Formats: sequence, structure tokens, C-alpha cells
Amino acid sequence: MKVNKLSEIKEKSFDDLMKEVVTPRLCTICGTCIAACPHNALILRKESFKRLELHELEVTRDIYKSIEDLCEKCGFCYYNCPEIMFDLEKAEKEEFGAVARDELGHFQKAYMAQATDKKIFKNAQCGGVATALLKYTLENKLVNAAVVVTSTEHPAWKPKPTVITNPKSLWKAQKTKYTPAATVIGVKSALYEWVRFRIAVVATPCQVRGLWTTKISPKGYSKIFDSIKLIIGLFCYGTYSYNDLFIKFLAKKHGIIPSSINRIELDTEKIRVYADNKLELEAHRRQLRRYLRKSCKHCHDFTNRLADVSLGGIGSPEKWTTVLIRTERGRKVFEDAVKERYIKAKPLSDGALKKVKELVRLKLSEGITD
Ligand SMILES: Cc1cc2nc3c(=O)[nH]c(=O)nc-3n(C[C@H](O)[C@H](O)[C@H](O)COP(=O)(O)OP(=O)(O)OC[C@H]3O[C@@H](n4cnc5c(N)ncnc54)[C@H](O)[C@@H]3O)c2cc1C
Repeated sequence: MKVNKLSEIKEKSFDDLMKEVVTPRLCTICGTCIAACPHNALILRKESFKRLELHELEVTRDIYKSIEDLCEKCGFCYYNCPEIMFDLEKAEKEEFGAVARDELGHFQKAYMAQATDKKIFKNAQCGGVATALLKYTLENKLVNAAVVVTSTEHPAWKPKPTVITNPKSLWKAQKTKYTPAATVIGVKSALYEWVRFRIAVVATPCQVRGLWTTKISPKGYSKIFDSIKLIIGLFCYGTYSYNDLFIKFLAKKHGIIPSSINRIELDTEKIRVYADNKLELEAHRRQLRRYLRKSCKHCHDFTNRLADVSLGGIGSPEKWTTVLIRTERGRKVFEDAVKERYIKAKPLSDGALKKVKELVRLKLSEGITD
């Protein structure tokens, strides 16, 4: 659905969001509806570990509290939802001047890169480039807050949007959590709780679509987008609910308890789980296929087309990050971080780019295309 003018908007509100997005399981849990609500009527439900075993972490009616009492039916939640209002063509024209022809989206250059900081490198999911870029932008005062996703300790590995202002704490957010994170709430928190207006954010494609919707929707809560000075986008094949991945698949099926896990790797072929510092599980990715969240099956953006720079593992050797430089500001920050020796980089080969494209196509072919 494309709505381009305020006059075209029929008054819709939270009930419509439930009906059109949440109930049909199209919600990615990006958090934009919550961030855009001017009355703070929407919040994420707090859950105990026990409750998680009984009830998976998905958006359902009871994830929202107090809605009846606080909701003014202003419709900001509805009109800032990327599932309703996001328009890729409009956003690409706005950012790059034209719709991209290449299946990777617009990009200027491609690299494989690594963080030079030993702690960041050691703790990284791939080469630690996401964290090295944040360190560079914070230390050089290009931004005054980084919005990232850390994990909770209890239950372990549950994603938590987090605002970081001290570069020394950035390592806490490293490694990929393959569960949905409401990152856009972190941006609101940086703005209103931390009073920071120059923000760098690390985000998956659905979260980036949420950020962009606040800019391009006629009823967009544009303060969110205007505060963002750098979008570090992650490649993403999809996410799994915490209950499916950590409880049903890892704990119950394979006997691996979340708190023992050091790292999870998911590539085209395999899932590898390292627990207590050794490889505990190597299984074919197809075992996870039935757990892929429905909203992720609808997503056609593997490489994060609207980020300033996009990062992934595919295409580069182990312990390197694949980097696509998209915008001018992304190019400047990345090249300056290389010049200042926060990052070392080599050009990415055509063969490596081909691998990235294969995964773009695979995601499209496995997805739901209705
Ligand atoms: C859900 C998910 C699926 C992915 N799937 C693929 C894939 O199929 N193929 C591929 O090549 N790459 C994939 N990636 C990207 C890859 O796993 C790395 O995140 C990327 O290469 C950056 O690595 P790094 O070492 O530079 O990051 P690090 O320095 O280790 O930093 C990791 C960053 O990721 C952020 N992060 C972690 N989990 C989440 C989350 N759930 N939502 C938002 N941000 C998060 C943290 O805030 C941190 O800033 C995926 C990432 C995510 C989050």
C-alpha cells in the first residue's frame, strides 16, 4: 500500500495496526510504532524466563499494556509502521536520486575489512567492523550516542536495544542475536532519555525500514530519522523467535542451554553453535527453516539497501566483514576510519560479490512473495 499525501490518509489507529500487521504475523518487532507513539501508550511486555517457555516472544495483543487507557487514536503507530507505509522506490529516490537496478541496491565500493582493536576483533561476530565504526564515530565526536543491541543475562541472549555513549562499552553489543530486536525504541531512548541528537545506529533491514518510514510517511515521526547521522546496516536472512531458536531448537532439541552459548553462526549451509568455548552443534540450516518468522519470509531485502554502509559475513573469509559502501556519508566515515587505523580493508573480489548476490536470490526464492 502506498499513501503519499496526508489528505489520502483515512483515519486509522492501533486497532487497524493489530488487524493488518500484528495478527497476520507481519510485525518484525522493529519498535517503530512504540517509538512513534506520542502518548507512550505502547510498551514491550516484560517477560520472565518461565513465561518465555510457555509463551513465545512474539507480538500479540498482550504485548501492549495500557493501550485502552492511554491511546488517543492519533494513528502515529499505524502511519509509522514500515509494513504499512514503507515505500522502497520513494526512499531510494530520496537517498540516491533513482531506484537501484542492481540486486544489491546502490553501492559505490565493496570491501572485506577487520577492526584493528584487539578486544573488538576478538569479540566480533565477523571482523568487528560494526563496532570499530561506532568506536571511530564516538571517539571523533561525529555522533554522541550509538544505538546497538546487547543481550540480557537472564534469560541469556535475549536482545535488548541499548544506548551506548562510552566507546569502551561497545564490545558488550557484539555478536549476532538471531532474534528480532526493537532497535527503533533505542533511538527514541537516545533522544528523550539521553538527550542525544547525533546518533549512529546498527540495524537489520526491517529496522532500517522503520527508521526510513519515520521520514517518508506523510504522518512520519521524523524526529527519529533526523537524529540519525549514520546507519550501519546488517545483512539479514531472517530471524527466529527466542522461544523457537533458544528454547525449542537449542535447549529442548539439542540440550544446549542459552547461558552456555558463546556464539552462533548461521551461513548459507549451516548453523554452528559454540558453547563453553567449543563447537557444540553443527547442523544443516534447513532444520531451522520451519522456524523462520513469517515477517522475515515477506522481507526481500537481504543486504540492507537503505543503510549508509551494509555489513555481513557472506563473501569474506572467516573473521572478516563484507562491507558495501552506499552513501557519501558512509564512504567518508568508512574511509576515514581506515585512514585513522580503526579498520583495515581490502577490496572485495567479484567472486565474493557473486556469493552475496546468490544469497539475495536465495532469500527471494524462499520468501513468500504475495
Ligand atoms: C538477525 C541477523 C541475521 C543475519 N544474517 C546474516 C546472513 O544470513 N548472512 C550474512 O552474511 N550476515 C548476516 N548478518 C550480519 C552478520 O551476522 C554480522 O552482524 C555482520 O557481518 C557484522 O559483523 P561484525 O563482526 O562487523 O559486527 P560486531 O562488531 O560483532 O557487531 C555486531 C553488531 O550487531 C548488532 N546486532 C546484533 N544482533 C542484532 C539484532 N538482532 N538486531 C540488530 N542489531 C543487532 C549489535 O548491536 C552490534 O552492533 C545477520 C545479522 C543479524 C542481526
